[in-house]
Amino acid sequence: MDNIYSTSKVHPQPNISWSLEPELTEIMASSRSYKTLLYAWEGWHNASGVPLKNYYPSFVELSNKASRADGFQDTGDDWRSWYETETFRQDLEEIYKTIEPLYLNLHAFVRRQLYNQYGPKYINLKGPIPAHLLGNMWAQTWNNIYDMMIPFPDKPNIDVTDEMVRQGYNATHMFRVAEEFFTSLGLERMPEEFWEGSMLVKPQGREVVCHASAWDFYNRKDFRIKQCTTVTMEQLFTVHHEMGHIQYYLQYKDKPVGFRRGANPGFHEAIGDVLSLSVSTPKHLETINLLESVTSDIETDTNYLLKMALEKIAFLPFGYLIDLWRWDVFSGKTPPERYNADWWYLRTKYQGICPPTRRTEEHFDAGAKYHIPGNTPYIRYFVSFILQFQFHEKLCEAARHTGPLHTCDIYRSAEAGAILKKVLQAGSSESWPVVLQDAIGTDKLNASSLMKYFEPIIDWLKKQNVNETLGWPDFNWVPPMPEGYPEDIEPGDVSTHLEVWTAGPSVRHH
Ligand SMILES: [Zn+2]
Repeated sequence: MDNIYSTSKVHPQPNISWSLEPELTEIMASSRSYKTLLYAWEGWHNASGVPLKNYYPSFVELSNKASRADGFQDTGDDWRSWYETETFRQDLEEIYKTIEPLYLNLHAFVRRQLYNQYGPKYINLKGPIPAHLLGNMWAQTWNNIYDMMIPFPDKPNIDVTDEMVRQGYNATHMFRVAEEFFTSLGLERMPEEFWEGSMLVKPQGREVVCHASAWDFYNRKDFRIKQCTTVTMEQLFTVHHEMGHIQYYLQYKDKPVGFRRGANPGFHEAIGDVLSLSVSTPKHLETINLLESVTSDIETDTNYLLKMALEKIAFLPFGYLIDLWRWDVFSGKTPPERYNADWWYLRTKYQGICPPTRRTEEHFDAGAKYHIPGNTPYIRYFVSFILQFQFHEKLCEAARHTGPLHTCDIYRSAEAGAILKKVLQAGSSESWPVVLQDAIGTDKLNASSLMKYFEPIIDWLKKQNVNETLGWPDFNWVPPMPEGYPEDIEPGDVSTHLEVWTAGPSVRHH
């Protein structure tokens, strides 16, 4: 299944082929043509998902058999056991309910801007948003359509992709920038073996799994990243994310093998993202010369927080629903003949999106997301997106930050680094509530730090939304097919910020 996913391609013409990375990802991020986006979305979902459909039910059966042999009811039960809490499912639902009003406000605002761009034919102001218009193949983060959403366009551009390209950034440089943030906190450098063994750009002449991942070889020496890095701000955060895994490996490498894991899987996913919360601040981007002098004012702040909301708030329902779907698949509640219907029910219920074309059980749209064929559990990313703000708040306090939480940069704070180091070195030698208690003084996951971080933008969004319908009462609405589609698609050039491809149990990017 992994192989089918990683080698799927879309052919707009017989002699042209688009891979997920980089071409299709780039189209989803930058095209503003309804039809081109539809073509890329539909092409990918059909090319990758449909061939997987026949394999997945037998995979589920085999996986359950293995879990039952280990004393679990099914594989979902097995995976949930890693979180060591009886009430895990209820705890998550409660957290989701807390943050849902934030999501509904972001959703309503974004839907209005998309209405202004694509018009009433394709956007229903009381319905879900067509899934292909949000800048990402799975509509999981929306920061790529920030340019259509900017509250105050006259203020500095806090998406620094163009500036990175202008300054001649390449993959190695992006990894060095990330490494320098870690060492500024008193954490470890990447070892020689890391630079020698990692694959930081997409190689030519052979197929690889491009989905970014970080690997511990469990010999206390060899730690590597595999990433088809392109020069964008989003990828700079992915670099920090993956390096967060390597830093974890390095810090717990002297523990017995059984303890060389995160306190729970969400901890592992949170580390690099915690750093990115600092890296992305205008203040930090100025420090590393990616932004011209920024004067801190309310309008620049609003721009920044909206961009962060498009990345972090937009992700929450997606991060939550993937395993809601998969847990039901493993338990048998969702049988193979309802795979796609139940998938789209959850996508609409939580994300407020709808498929842009008619989808049936002939399709297998869950399979078009890496972690399904790759069989990587997903709830860890939801846990991480809550937890990283809890860490951020505590580290900012240690760094003696004053002012709003979203302006904090922990760069060069040995005190913040020391807290992080303790968490990392503990690995899984204690249960996660104990590790969390030691580090930040609470043993519970909770969304209050996240709420505090986004409070100013939520207030702003509420003001923009006074005349909007929050939510999607037209639950089953789907957009019409565009006239002339797909015969009139121009497969033209895909312009990408690509580096010239020269170069040189795991955990993965979400
Ligand atoms: Zn990861």
